[in-house]
Amino acid sequence: MADLAVKGVAPRNSDKKNYNAGINIIVDKIEQDAKSNTTDANTQTEWQLRITDSFAPFLLNPTLGANVSGQHYDDLESFFNTTYAKNIRAAGRAAKVPVTVDLEMLFGNAPGKEFVKQQFINNNVSLIKSIPERLHSQVQNVISDNFAKGFDREQLTNDIEQRFSVARSRAKLIANDQSNKAIGQLAQLRSLSLGANTYRWQTAEDDRVRPTHEALNDTIQNWNAPPAIGNPGEPINCRCIAVTIIDSDLLAAA
Ligand SMILES: [Zn+2]
Repeated sequence: MADLAVKGVAPRNSDKKNYNAGINIIVDKIEQDAKSNTTDANTQTEWQLRITDSFAPFLLNPTLGANVSGQHYDDLESFFNTTYAKNIRAAGRAAKVPVTVDLEMLFGNAPGKEFVKQQFINNNVSLIKSIPERLHSQVQNVISDNFAKGFDREQLTNDIEQRFSVARSRAKLIANDQSNKAIGQLAQLRSLSLGANTYRWQTAEDDRVRPTHEALNDTIQNWNAPPAIGNPGEPINCRCIAVTIIDSDLLAAA
């Protein structure tokens, strides 16, 4: 019996960028509408109602994707499927599995995959929805603060723009963080489906790695009894990955 290390798959920057762009389509659309709806608004009520009009399609629709022509939910699903496919191909190469073996059967754990995928999509839809929700109440506050001080149109426009730019930073954070989380969840799924409970913690090995993550680099961990900060990808913006340790006899039997 020998142990094989199956390398984790790091999320690709292009995937993170696509995800981020998907959210920014929503933010851009609201900002454009808000600008054109408020050009001739003069009272607080006018501002507040017209701002709400700009947000309305994104606040009321429970399936956020419908607002960008049904695109977003599909994007999340295809993001997950692509990441999943890359993950099992990398596992196959690392474990030197013969091409005749069905990688999905070996690494895929199909029922678990559907569950993890659904969880990922649901969680991401609510994260994306939280962006316009939060932004809407922030902009409303900016409007009432401005009118409380006597209404300065230029100041108000600048302050609203500032809120939109904060929302864009938050969108970027979500895109990065969720890409890392998908990778982590898939590595866990793959490991556990092979009966491998342990993995080797691997950091991104650059100067952005936090000390608490650095301390775990190269240590052997158990999926079911993770370190205090969680499994790789679980802490916010964690770029660490899990190197799965599998018993090669399990592969031979497949
Ligand atoms: Zn990390």
